[in-house]
Amino acid sequence: MPLSGFDLDALAGRLPATPLTRFAPAPTGWLHLGHVLNADYVWSLARALGGRVLLRIEDHDRGRSRPEFEAGILDDLDWLGFHPDIHTTADIRAGRVSPRQSDRQPIYAAAVRTLAAQGLIYACDCSRRSLTHGTGEGGELFYPGTCRTRQLPLAPGVGWRLRIDAGVERFDDVRMGRQEQEPARQCGDLLVRDREGNWTYQFAVAVDDWDQGIDLVVRGTDLLASTGRQIRIARLLGRARKPVFFHHPLIMKSASQKLSKSDGDTAVRVLRERGWTAETVRRAARAAVGVSEA
Ligand code: GLU
Repeated sequence: MPLSGFDLDALAGRLPATPLTRFAPAPTGWLHLGHVLNADYVWSLARALGGRVLLRIEDHDRGRSRPEFEAGILDDLDWLGFHPDIHTTADIRAGRVSPRQSDRQPIYAAAVRTLAAQGLIYACDCSRRSLTHGTGEGGELFYPGTCRTRQLPLAPGVGWRLRIDAGVERFDDVRMGRQEQEPARQCGDLLVRDREGNWTYQFAVAVDDWDQGIDLVVRGTDLLASTGRQIRIARLLGRARKPVFFHHPLIMKSASQKLSKSDGDTAVRVLRERGWTAETVRRAARAAVGVSEA
């Protein structure tokens, strides 16, 4: 069942041939319709282009991740018919492979050493309250660089930040066209490890997308503003060629609010219990953003 929300032939020149893309849920809740739509875009694009899908479990936030959510995600993916090519659910269940960020600690530690060797990592003991709202679009939280010159030791119990210097990041989103973002104005110096020792989403995802050879990133427009900073982190680590990005529409529960994990009644497991078929769930996710069948 190919997605017809875009004309693949028209986009072909902008998409990598036989890409490696990924589906990267965080096991902090059950899979819901928003994830189903994302998986549908990921698998539809990969299959149409003769590419592959890697499953990555984004459990970088150890406090919020739960094994039962991971198990539920694997079961729901099987039931929906989304079969990863790398890190298959059967191999994961049998313990033959791990798709988890929590099993990649040495890789993040090595990446942070690469950045520290460039003098870009510093310790920060500021609380979230010292963050202000940024000048970038969306007014997201902005760190003004308070600890940049304080020379605090990189010890447990403090956050680790990456210095983000001025400069614009440009990329062509396959669906949304030319984008320009300036991370130093959007968010300022980025937290790469929090005071509890968790690697952050922005850091872990940039490291993984590079280390795992991902050349096509397919995700919702809620992550569009993160893309410039992830491109920056990857370049600082040594990535020469950025992935191609495709940001797709989001399922909204109201004009301004996207669907989230707390909207329990769209959880795949709940819809399953109500007797929905996998096909109905996939169609409902598409219908919610007005994507028609081919
Ligand atoms: N783990 C993120 C999420 O569940 C997705 C990350 C990404 O696609 O970059 O929203």
